[in-house]
Amino acid sequence: MAARPTFSIEVAERDGVDVVTIAGIIDENADLSPLSELGARPIEVNLRGVRRINSFGVRTWIDAVRRIAQSARLTFVQCPPPVVDQCNMVSGFLGHGALTSFFAPMVCAECDEQIDQLFETAACRANGGKLPETRCPRCGRPMEVDDLEEQYLLFVRDSR
Ligand SMILES: [Zn+2]
Repeated sequence: MAARPTFSIEVAERDGVDVVTIAGIIDENADLSPLSELGARPIEVNLRGVRRINSFGVRTWIDAVRRIAQSARLTFVQCPPPVVDQCNMVSGFLGHGALTSFFAPMVCAECDEQIDQLFETAACRANGGKLPETRCPRCGRPMEVDDLEEQYLLFVRDSR
């Protein structure tokens, strides 16, 4: 069963990297201040648990990301579809950071299997801006993204 999607943010240090884990719903009540309090060390933000971002949350988020030191290497990993959608729609959503890995909702036209598959942005870029082939775990046929692939991958062209 899925946990109730309340907002949470945790910061932990790992091998000289500040690892920030954010989950739940990002709205006007989300306290993103721990992001702004980070120093100039590399920062890795894991967004796997983010369920939804509303319009107030987008504003709060962009403010917080802008306060992160420009000198800090900033990466966003395991971004789920709600985050990918914002990256595609809102310019400056990642500040000076780069989205390095993300989930895409994949469907199998053959057997209707649905999975959220993790992809590396660099692998998509190396593949001409497209998702690498994903085989259905149930029937082995190639799966397709449950969205317009070109739109879902807009950020691949923009991000560094
Ligand atoms: Zn299948």
